[in-house]
Amino acid sequence: MSQATAGASQSQDITKYARYEAGGTAAYGIVDGDTVRELDGDLFSSPQPTGKTVSLSSVKLLAPCEPSKVIAVGRNYKSHIGNQERAPYPGLFAKYPTSIVATEESIIRPADAEDLHYEGEMVVVIGKTAKNVSVEDAPSHAFGVTCGNDVSERGWQSSDLQWFRAKASDTFGPMGPVLVTGLNYNDLSLETRVNGETRQSQRTSDLLFSVAECISYISQYVTLTPGDAIFSGTPGSTKGMVGGDVVEVEIEGIGVLWNMVTQAK
Ligand code: MG
Repeated sequence: MSQATAGASQSQDITKYARYEAGGTAAYGIVDGDTVRELDGDLFSSPQPTGKTVSLSSVKLLAPCEPSKVIAVGRNYKSHIGNQERAPYPGLFAKYPTSIVATEESIIRPADAEDLHYEGEMVVVIGKTAKNVSVEDAPSHAFGVTCGNDVSERGWQSSDLQWFRAKASDTFGPMGPVLVTGLNYNDLSLETRVNGETRQSQRTSDLLFSVAECISYISQYVTLTPGDAIFSGTPGSTKGMVGGDVVEVEIEGIGVLWNMVTQAK
């Protein structure tokens, strides 16, 4: 567990939560080195340890939460929008729970895809129902953060009426590997690599709309419930991916989200 971000800004202990499958059953657990301590109950209502442990290397990691909604913020780093000023309010769009895949699962490049891009992002997971919350109160509604890849089909993004298939097709929302609480998510390093080459590298302190501002704004219109995921935006520029490419999104204190692109026939 990285302590690199520990300091005065930490509001609580840093805890890594995994959702995983072992012996055909899905469970949540706390990751401690290579040990996963199984939890009983809802992740967002003080789950208790069952006393059972498994080794991290023996389990299949699942996406770290099961959102009812997956909301994404566009144009949220200056470096992604040609150094323009931030918009008057966050630009939002939807992905779907069916877009989500876990670390080590495939991103399926559709047979008719033209220009499929990665977008490395920090994802915030809601822990407490949020409706009409203020910016000041918003942080208490965030549970933790994980790595995400807002996979985007640029051709469809510019040609379609809405971003329905460009942003929300199956497998276009990798998340993981774990969900971490207690990090100062307002200042974490974010890096995206394709086949080992660094393509995006920035800190979340450069977000144009902060996590708190995004949660507050979204909650004026949509009720956020525990487990809901907010993709916070991508920095810098992106490029196309083809079958066989390996995309890694790494965030300080969380770990590496690893996915390979598979070309659909
Ligand atoms: Mg994005």
